[in-house]
Amino acid sequence: DSIANQIAAGEVVQRPASAVKELMENSIDADATHIKLILKEAGKTLLQVIDDGKGMSETDARMSLERHATSKIRSAEDLFTLHTMGFRGEALASLAAVSQMELKTRPAEQELGTLLVVEGSDVKRQEPVACDKGTSISVKNLFYNIPARRNFLKSNANEYQHIVDEFQRLALAHPDVAFQLIETDTIEYDLHPGKLSQRIVSIFGKSYQEQLAACQEETALVKMTGYLGKPHSAKKKRGEQFLFVNKRFIRSAYLNHAVMSAYEGLLPENTFPFYVLFIEIDPKHIDVNVHPTKTEIKFDDERAVYAVVLSAARQALGAHNL
Ligand code: ADP
Ligand code: MG
Repeated sequence: DSIANQIAAGEVVQRPASAVKELMENSIDADATHIKLILKEAGKTLLQVIDDGKGMSETDARMSLERHATSKIRSAEDLFTLHTMGFRGEALASLAAVSQMELKTRPAEQELGTLLVVEGSDVKRQEPVACDKGTSISVKNLFYNIPARRNFLKSNANEYQHIVDEFQRLALAHPDVAFQLIETDTIEYDLHPGKLSQRIVSIFGKSYQEQLAACQEETALVKMTGYLGKPHSAKKKRGEQFLFVNKRFIRSAYLNHAVMSAYEGLLPENTFPFYVLFIEIDPKHIDVNVHPTKTEIKFDDERAVYAVVLSAARQALGAHNL
């Protein structure tokens, strides 16, 4: 069973960044208003997420480590209809199978919290503990019991960049939540709650303030909001294009093409514009590939969504003096 657990875990947890994503999404699901991410060696020796969310009772804490014990869906179509990010009920179980995990959690209404110390799925310690309201999960020595996987991890710089990507996506999707990222005792990000434009500036820098063109459009099918970078601020490198559907980050070459078409004739050669765009759509009009690491979706009426994105983006760019 522990081998089966380890194999299943490999599907969900591929690198420190996937662990970070799962833990931080759980904090969002728990209605946290403050989420702190602490890393040592790009998450290879320690990755810890501390939140002030609703916490778990002792029973729930034990249950949270059981595979599928908490699964919220029966079918793939349920994804994106849920109001929570999590749906498979296997992230914590998977993480526990491939690391040394310490979980501390306390719901507001309880005086004492619960401490669980787990090693490769075995619960080594369980006891009441005095702790803040919310949940703290430390994942130590990821893949310590799967040397092949551990050796396969990339350099710290590379793994850290993947973590930052996940961190930025979640921070952009939830500007009302405070986020901190601390890597080996250095505060790398300290993001206060605010509007999306403020969040963008806190993540990417002051120079973005003047570079944002607001984008807003609503049709019977979709609602679009967000910001497009003004053309002359486009960068030589890709990587600052963010598209969210119902608050989940997705990759879509098709919709990226719609955005890029709005910039046609405006961009300096070989540059890529910044954008952060949110699409809200009734989940019954989308189809999702539920593989845990995929961020791809299909729309019933792809062309209609494309048309809205293109026209909204064109309008945003035209409405501002470029
Ligand atoms: P899923 O998110 O798909 O339900 P997870 O394995 O990620 O599965 O988490 C299992 C369960 O543990 C969650 O459904 C939730 O009830 C609980 N849980 C996990 N993390 C937290 C947290 N930070 N705060 C409160 N509850 C949590
Ligand atoms: Mg989850």
